[in-house]
Amino acid sequence: MSIFNTPDLMAFRQEVRAFIKERLTDEMVQATRSGLHLDPRIMRAWQATLNQRGWGAPHWPASAGGPGWNALQRYIFEEECAFADAPPGDVLGLFLAGPMIIAEGNDAQKKRYLPKILSGEEYWCQGFSEPNAGSDLASLKTTAVRDGDEWVLNGQKTWLSSGHYADFMFCLARTDLEGKPQEGLTQFIIDMKTPGLTLHPIMTMDEGHSVNAIFLDNVRVPHENVIGEINKGWTYAKDLLARERVNNAQAPRTKRDILELERLAASLKDEHGAPLADQPQVQRRLASLVMDFVALQSAVLRVLASQMRGEEPGPIASTLKIRGSELQQRVTETAMSLLDQAGIVLTPEYGGGLLAPEGNGWLERHLFRRVVTIYAGSNEIQKTIIAKSILGM
Ligand SMILES: Cc1cc2nc3c(=O)[nH]c(=O)nc-3n(C[C@H](O)[C@H](O)[C@H](O)COP(=O)(O)OP(=O)(O)OC[C@H]3O[C@@H](n4cnc5c(N)ncnc54)[C@H](O)[C@@H]3O)c2cc1C
Repeated sequence: MSIFNTPDLMAFRQEVRAFIKERLTDEMVQATRSGLHLDPRIMRAWQATLNQRGWGAPHWPASAGGPGWNALQRYIFEEECAFADAPPGDVLGLFLAGPMIIAEGNDAQKKRYLPKILSGEEYWCQGFSEPNAGSDLASLKTTAVRDGDEWVLNGQKTWLSSGHYADFMFCLARTDLEGKPQEGLTQFIIDMKTPGLTLHPIMTMDEGHSVNAIFLDNVRVPHENVIGEINKGWTYAKDLLARERVNNAQAPRTKRDILELERLAASLKDEHGAPLADQPQVQRRLASLVMDFVALQSAVLRVLASQMRGEEPGPIASTLKIRGSELQQRVTETAMSLLDQAGIVLTPEYGGGLLAPEGNGWLERHLFRRVVTIYAGSNEIQKTIIAKSILGM
């Protein structure tokens, strides 16, 4: 029997499903199906709808506005949203900025920022990476120098996801030039309208615009926008990146993609008119994806359960990040190989104008998902973390 098939959880699933059916609009579904880089207006509208129901941030503690669900309820909720093609929320606000403010922020910061992350009124971006500080994040060069009640920041950040529509950035900057690089970093909240910030778009190979470079030229940030303690930013960043890695396993959305892939295999025909899904080699490939998905799902559930007990995921998050990201890529690679030439189409939004119905956004997903083994700490770096922290090498 599945762990999800208890009367309580089945009733919970029905409640979530009914709410989504009632409130998710066709426009939201179409937007979610048609691309990875969604119109923020659509995402904000769905977030507001969830928040009105008290479901704005399933993984936040009830004291901060979460619904108080356990790990299985949260997972079911994510599955139902994924299966229904509901728009994702502000990942950076909900999964990174919000939890960091809950854990390290002061009362004024919690009161000011958390409600508007929940309601979808304010979006966030993450200013960590720099042109020469990605994997080696501790070597970042953006400086913050205290000037009375303000800090003055100078430097450059890159790969800022959602920076072009974010309202705030949580930004890691160097506040101490002496000692170990990890010990001189501080987390700041920066209003994206602050004078001295200049944003430049970066186009990715799927021809979408989701990332940006940003230059900080004497950007003045009030001292009240420091998160936690000065020079403790690295510690907070490590906890936050571990949370990001669990989230990046993306198990429910991968399950949805595998189901879509199975439908694709059933709908595509070989030269004799037989469904590709009848071919043994296609069946083997799909079965291998499903087995690896089941293994991933049980590992994610174990970590979620330990998080519910207040434990940080620690280095195990690295194993989820590797397995989850590789699986996401294998799913789209399989779709591209099934589609063959029919897969090489871009939606009009991405400039191709050659929308073949069976293409259904697979090419765009395939191209953009090259990133999942790079961001949130590349998979090579995760392997080093596993070697050191889990295997003791
Ligand atoms: C689409 C996209 C969105 C992103 N969004 C954000 C964001 O919103 N905010 C943010 O702060 N950052 C973001 N990033 C940045 C991302 O976190 C970095 O790209 C990532 O950490 C890798 O850093 P890098 O690009 O500098 O590559 P590098 O660190 O230069 O690595 C290049 C290659 O060398 C390998 N490598 C590096 N060091 C080692 C080592 N010690 N051992 C073994 N292999 C190694 C890496 O695995 C990689 O394959 C995003 C990146 C992309 C592509």
